[in-house]
Amino acid sequence: MDDCIFCKLANGEIPTEMVYQDDRIACFKDASPQAPVHVLMVPKRHIASLDDLTPEDEELMGYMMLKIKDIASSLGLENGYRAVINCGEDGQQTVKHLHIHILGKRKLTWPPG
Ligand code: 5GP
Ligand code: ZN
Repeated sequence: MDDCIFCKLANGEIPTEMVYQDDRIACFKDASPQAPVHVLMVPKRHIASLDDLTPEDEELMGYMMLKIKDIASSLGLENGYRAVINCGEDGQQTVKHLHIHILGKRKLTWPPG
């Protein structure tokens, strides 16, 4: 999608500190980290939010879920971490390209604000 910052980051149009990428997904550092480790995993194909998923995305989403632990492990999060997907206005989703936050290296509080 032309005007989407995460499409541009995921596809290399804008340089960023990439933690992992392959043909389907990209994972890069969050610009405003909320924990010592805070990265965002995104599909390279533009999907706006959880609400925009279709049955065709089932395999991709499964792939992303399974990649979380590999990325967490590569970032040294052996003591645990949190994976978060914000959706919509009440979920405080600010970037309209589906992304999974992976946060760790500090004791995270619950419930989130
Ligand atoms: P959301 O609130 O939509 O769940 O999360 C969006 C996240 O994207 C925020 O944590 C914010 O810091 C991050 N972010 C926004 N713009 C950029 C950017 O241009 N580059 C990077 N690396 N992160 C961004
Ligand atoms: Zn996008």
